[in-house]
Amino acid sequence: MKNIIIFGAPGSGKGTYSDEIVKRYNMGHISTGDVLRGEIKNGTELGKIAKGYIDQGQLIPDDLMIDILAKVYDSHEEGRGVIFDGFPRTIAQAEALKQMLTQRGHDLGMMIELVVDEQTLMERLLRRAEIEGRADDNEETIRKRFAVYHQKTEPLAQWFEQEGIRHTFTWKGSKELMLEEIFKGIDAEN
Ligand code: AMP
Repeated sequence: MKNIIIFGAPGSGKGTYSDEIVKRYNMGHISTGDVLRGEIKNGTELGKIAKGYIDQGQLIPDDLMIDILAKVYDSHEEGRGVIFDGFPRTIAQAEALKQMLTQRGHDLGMMIELVVDEQTLMERLLRRAEIEGRADDNEETIRKRFAVYHQKTEPLAQWFEQEGIRHTFTWKGSKELMLEEIFKGIDAEN
């Protein structure tokens, strides 16, 4: 299985679709947000640093993230393929990911971009706030996360385009419809 990078704004469904892809293709899953929330829960040094950024809707510094990612990646079984969910979020992270994979004789694989309008994103995140109670799912922090996404992460789509691995899926009102299209896209690449 090729690696997959799932890409999109906060609330675009990266975690939800990753779970479905993992089940269907038996891949590994690296969610950097989940890794960081785990560190916070365990009260580690890294967790303490991460909390300050996450609560403000800001990104954790690239060098720290790149370090964490390489360690988590190396803990996964080789050859099965991994979904990167929430990473990379900056051009520096993308360049570092490419370098790390190349050093190991692996490829970036394919990038799956989820495009969802901002009103739907906000509604979803506010609903998630009620269900999961994530500290960064309040309207003020969500707005900051959208701004950071537009400024630092969205330009990366072009980077993936240049790599020739960008596959865009636009929200069509139903998760099932999206999944069908995404699975077709993955099957065509493998
Ligand atoms: P997520 O669960 O992917 O929405 O991530 C939640 C928060 O964790 C983000 O708003 C960032 O503060 C932080 N985070 C997760 N992944 C990264 C990353 N690749 N680079 C920097 N910060 C990250």
